[in-house]
This record gives sequence, C-alpha cells and structure tokens, in this order.
Amino acid sequence: ATPTAVMVATGVGASNGVLIKGGDALERAQKIKYVVFDKTGTLTQGRPTITTVKTFTEMDRGDFLTLVASAEASSEHPLARALVNYAHHFHFFNEPSAAKNFHNECEDPNFSGWLLDVLDFSALPGRGVQCFINGKRILVGNRKLLLENEVTIPDEAESFATELEESGKTGVLVAYNDILIGVLGLADPLKREAAVVVEALNNMGIRPVMVTGDNWRTAQAVAKEVGIQDVKAEVMPSGKVDAIRSFQKDGSTVAMVGDGINDSPALAAADVGIAIGAGTDIAIEAADYVLMRSSLEDVITAIDLSRKTFSRIR
Ligand code: ADP
Ligand code: MG
Repeated sequence: ATPTAVMVATGVGASNGVLIKGGDALERAQKIKYVVFDKTGTLTQGRPTITTVKTFTEMDRGDFLTLVASAEASSEHPLARALVNYAHHFHFFNEPSAAKNFHNECEDPNFSGWLLDVLDFSALPGRGVQCFINGKRILVGNRKLLLENEVTIPDEAESFATELEESGKTGVLVAYNDILIGVLGLADPLKREAAVVVEALNNMGIRPVMVTGDNWRTAQAVAKEVGIQDVKAEVMPSGKVDAIRSFQKDGSTVAMVGDGINDSPALAAADVGIAIGAGTDIAIEAADYVLMRSSLEDVITAIDLSRKTFSRIR
C-alpha cells in the first residue's frame, strides 16, 4: 500500500471512531489469526448487578450487606462498586428511617455514613479484598482468597456458589472472623453486539478467544452464550501476557481486545492491541487501536480496513 492509501485508511478509521496509531499497526491487522477478548467490560457490559444474596448466619440481611459494602468501599473493582451500590439501595428502600437519617445528616444522596470503619484494607488482585472490621478479619472474594486464608467453605455454600457459576454469574464469598457467612451472585450481561461479532470473526477465518480472571464455570457459561470455544479462565492479572504469547508461538498474528488496567500488558504484548474507548487510560495508551464508540463491531471495521488497504491486488 502507498503512504497515501495508509493515510486514507487512517482517515476512514478515524471518521468511524477507530483510532489507528500508525501504519505498522494498520498493516499487522490484516494478518490477525486470533482475537483474544477480555471478558469483563469487553465482552460483557462491565456493570455487574447483584442477583442473589444468601447468608449462612443469624445476622440481619442489612447488617450483612453493610459489612460487605464496608469491606469493598475502598476497592475500585466493578464487583466492589456493584456491592456498595446495592447495599446503599437496600438501606435506602428497606430502612426508610435510616434513609431519612442520611438526608437529615447529609444532603448528598451518596452519603456513606452508614459504612463501618475499616482497618488494614488490602485489595488482592484476582482474588478480592481483605480488611478488619470491629477487630475481626473480613474476606470478600473468590474461593482462592478463602482457601489461601484457610477458611473452610461448607458444602452448602460451595454448591450454592457452583449453581450461580453454572448460570454465568460470579459467586462472591464472604468470611467474617474466618467463618463463611454468605455468598452473593453477580451477573454481568453480554454486550448486545458481542455474539454477532464473534460469529463474524469465525466467518472471516479468525479464532475468537476469551481470557478472564473469573472462575472456570462462570467463564465457560459466558463463552458458551457468546459462541466462543477457546477459553482461558482463572488467569491472574499477570497471566494475560502469557496467554497472548501462547497463541503467538507458531508465528500467528494475535490481537487482544481489552478495557482494563489489567489488560494493558497484554495489549502491549499482542501484535495488535485494541482498547475499548470507554476503558481505562492505561489500556488506551498501551493499545495500537482505540475503539472510540466502544462497540465491538469496530473490531471487524478495523480488520476490514486493514485487509482492504493491504490485500488489494493492484
Ligand atoms: P477480570 O477483570 O478478568 O474479571 P480480576 O482479576 O479483576 O479479573 O478478578 C478475578 C476474580 O477475582 C473476580 O472474578 C472475583 O472473583 C475476584 N475479585 C477480584 N476483585 C474483587 C473484589 N474487589 N471483590 C470481590 N471479588 C473480587
Ligand atoms: Mg475488563
């Protein structure tokens, strides 16, 4: 392709909301064999909602939610935000007197005076959070988090979580004072265009893949729903790069599509890094392409544009 053709293609991309950082990236996209998608926030909407709250204690439901939200309040994770929001709404609608107090005390509807004091908070990537409330340790996260901290997961809780995961939800486990006190189910629906894009890639001879830090059962249920056969689950944030490398081994050109901070090393390691425009700045910086409309359909637009620019017989 001539420099003019590259310039034209870059302009066509830009007018479709596909920002291309340089001619090399544009050229590499025509050879893509694998498109590796991050799950949360890329294939899914990234706005999980609570579908289930199950407690295994005498504790009042509102108190349970307050504990969970207090532990998660300092976390930036989408699951954490969903849990805090849910607890806020629970108190607002189920305890009108408490809600009234919020407003008497503070006009801000986001007033968080109902949250408990937390000590020694730590966010554990790929696992969850840990902190101390009323002198007792609280753990909110996945099985790995609980097992690493030697908390026993009773059969009843285990089968409850398994059931959630088999329907594509993420099970969040809560231990207080090293006793499992509850399980929450969170659903993060697929983006509307996700399945169509996966099908289009298959028709183009490109293999779609999903990587996620989420557990195997949830990952497989979501992959099935979107039509992806190749899945890598329970990947630690640092492991996404290894996943990219494993597909590059035979010399294949690999694209990575992601939105999160966790995705940026993989976006950089991929031959073609594609960031969702609505994603984090770090992901956008690490990528070769930015999809300003945040629609997965533009992954196809990007590949088409490269193919048309470079594969044309002149
Ligand atoms: P991904 O972005 O691919 O879902 P993460 O590495 O962010 O992966 O998280 C992996 C898993 O770790 C989540 O599915 C969840 O089970 C658990 N986790 C991480 N952070 C939190 C949190 N703040 N609260 C509860 N669970 C969490
Ligand atoms: Mg993500």
